[in-house]
Amino acid sequence: MTLPAGIRIFGAPGRYLQGPGALDALGALAASYGPAPLVIGDAQVLGLLGSRLVTSLAEADLTPAFGTLKGEITREAVAALAAQGKERESSLVIGIGGGKSLDAAKGVAMLLDLPMFTVPTIASNDSPTSAAVAIYDDSHAMVAVDRMARNPDVVLVDTALIAAAPVAFLRAGIGDALAKKFEAEGCRAGSGVTPFETRPLSTASAIADACYRTLRAHAEAGLAACARNEVTGDLEAVVEAAVLMSGLGFENGGLSLAHALTRGLMRARGTKDASHGDQVAWGLLVHLAAEGRSDEEIDDLLQFYCRIGLPTCLAELGMSEPGADDIALIVDWTLTAPHLKNFASPLDGPAIEAAIGRAEALASQGRGRDAT
Ligand SMILES: [Zn+2]
Repeated sequence: MTLPAGIRIFGAPGRYLQGPGALDALGALAASYGPAPLVIGDAQVLGLLGSRLVTSLAEADLTPAFGTLKGEITREAVAALAAQGKERESSLVIGIGGGKSLDAAKGVAMLLDLPMFTVPTIASNDSPTSAAVAIYDDSHAMVAVDRMARNPDVVLVDTALIAAAPVAFLRAGIGDALAKKFEAEGCRAGSGVTPFETRPLSTASAIADACYRTLRAHAEAGLAACARNEVTGDLEAVVEAAVLMSGLGFENGGLSLAHALTRGLMRARGTKDASHGDQVAWGLLVHLAAEGRSDEEIDDLLQFYCRIGLPTCLAELGMSEPGADDIALIVDWTLTAPHLKNFASPLDGPAIEAAIGRAEALASQGRGRDAT
């Protein structure tokens, strides 16, 4: 879409619902989208929740078809699910589960030009609210990030499901979300653009700032509630920040160095299997180091990471004894990320390498202080 210069965009899901038991509202929400929803999830999630979904949809006189995602979200896998939807004359696509299932459903909705809902069962990142679709190859290398023409029509977040999931997922969602404030601020201060390819409106920075403040205030108690499988006010606050505020913050505010670094981490020794949120959490430390923030400010975030269990250094992301070659590989791939141009000032390879070195040094000093 080519827009006149100076036009800016704010995009968001049509409706966002959050709370314990929200899943049972699915039928009522889907009723106005035609009689034949296609529900996409993996075998485990569909096995656990399938009958509850059928009951909720049946109450609205809807008969769903189910598409099971097996393995990676490749172009072929999405096309096969879309063929199933076409054959069943589906009127709505509902993705349920983790990021992969939601992205598969988004890909199918794009191919069939249908409305779509996301129903996350974990809160490990902000993909439920976003229009982005990550496409992979069979060896789990990301090959493209497509974008739907609209954000999901409905995002339905059942916090009882999120609380019942392993706490590591929610922790990763916090890691992904913390960075958004700083990425949006840098994008706005420089000449960056959002995923809508326009300059950001100030609303995005306000949301990303609220996201960060919410997580600093509620993350510890929210994670503790998740560990007890309990829905509390703190857990609700953390989920809203990790799913809604984080998604609105990045799509309307822009991504930057913290996310650009994941390009390298996805390929580097030991770190490639770390979750996206853990990778972004480390990326944020490097981002702040590259901005020239004070040692005290970075150390404050490091101490927070230690309290909630986010990784503070490459070793904690899975890379034992990082060497110069490891760092060079991360830097080289980071330089290929389009988000890098959203950093407030131009960054080259040596500057990123220096920022990684500074962040790693501060993390090791922080651990030393903790031990004494
Ligand atoms: Zn992210």
